[in-house]
Amino acid sequence: MEEATQLMIAAIKAQTSQSPLRTFAIAYIHDLEDIASKSAEEVERQQLCISYVDELETIPAKAYIRLLDFCMVKKTPRPYTFCHGSNISQQQSSVQTPLPGARATRNASPPLDDLPGADIIIRTSDMVEFRVHRVILNMGAPGLLRISPTPYQHSPDSSDNGIPSSNALPLLQLAEKCETISTLLRMCYPCDSPILLSNFDALYTAAKKYSMQMVMDRLRHELINLLKGCDDSEPYYLLACRHSFKDIVYKSAKAFSERDLGVWIAVERKPKSIWRQSFDAVPASAVFRLLQFHRKTKAEALALTSKWVPKPHRFGNVFDPTTTFDAVANACQLPAYRPSRYPCWLSLFMSKVRPVLEEKPRGSSIRDKVMDILLDLQGELLNAQSKQICTMCRRSITTEQLKRMVRDFADKVDEVANKVNLPSAIASSMVIESHK
Ligand SMILES: [Zn+2]
Repeated sequence: MEEATQLMIAAIKAQTSQSPLRTFAIAYIHDLEDIASKSAEEVERQQLCISYVDELETIPAKAYIRLLDFCMVKKTPRPYTFCHGSNISQQQSSVQTPLPGARATRNASPPLDDLPGADIIIRTSDMVEFRVHRVILNMGAPGLLRISPTPYQHSPDSSDNGIPSSNALPLLQLAEKCETISTLLRMCYPCDSPILLSNFDALYTAAKKYSMQMVMDRLRHELINLLKGCDDSEPYYLLACRHSFKDIVYKSAKAFSERDLGVWIAVERKPKSIWRQSFDAVPASAVFRLLQFHRKTKAEALALTSKWVPKPHRFGNVFDPTTTFDAVANACQLPAYRPSRYPCWLSLFMSKVRPVLEEKPRGSSIRDKVMDILLDLQGELLNAQSKQICTMCRRSITTEQLKRMVRDFADKVDEVANKVNLPSAIASSMVIESHK
């Protein structure tokens, strides 16, 4: 066995330079600090921290954020540790185990306390007992029936309230709390069972554990309904990433990342700034996807600064409808802009806009700064000494035209930003780390 482990470690080590990100993830999962550190150095050297490997679905976001911090921040203190004996399976063990020592049992609230013909008892970690039917469990929660029952033992001080002795019935002791099991069982019976977002993770985790397929489908459906009209889509994004709900990942991520845009933009300078407690329960891919989303949005918005030209008709003014943008562009006297559809002042405008989009690639950031941008531009237009603006352009451009153009440009930025798609939630179709 020892030998097999050594062979496995050697095999992982051998992959360090070929696929460092994958090796990092595997080393992290198996708590192999030295391999994780070496792989991280390779990831940094090959600049692969924002590329994708399937293993990003299996390591926790916090491990990935440490890797980003290591690769992106120049002065991170070395040596840098990654593993600390933690792995994702420990992250996910959120279920409660029953407390030792006999505590008084309580009956579940009606009707699950004593259904007619009940032939099995389910006891939760907080000692609440449900008397239910095997046949229903067999249909709705077959996984529960795979648990070996223990003989029912009457707790000495439990309050039975006239319910007949259940000594003969088999008992299933569960690790989940009453709040979770009650909702799940009610979903198997024709009972009313409100689903709270705060308890969704526990519900879905337990439903999956007990093979409750119909309940899982309904929970997913409920989550989509809750997402509609919510103000804060962050918890939905994290839940969707945690449980691989692809459609909800798409719907929630855009809204979530839009709200926290500043944080995500700053991430390349300060990766740790995105860390929050709720990321402990999601895979690294949840962070990767948001990062990738912002990179793409920024790239699309910045690309506009070298290819966008105003619509010709928007430049016609009320006094002279023949003054289109094409006419304006053709009038530019600086040789560098002839022949091109770019007059000199448009290049100047784009150079003012670029840093704004670097910070926040959205139309709103242009609209917010419209006065600063225009004042800056007009300063140059009015400055007779400026070598960047030709005499013809200086004479022909009006403030009204510029304002109109800035509005159009901001709309265009939003249009391209809205078209950016989030990288897929499920592995294969992604930007895969290159294998050399
Ligand atoms: Zn010009």
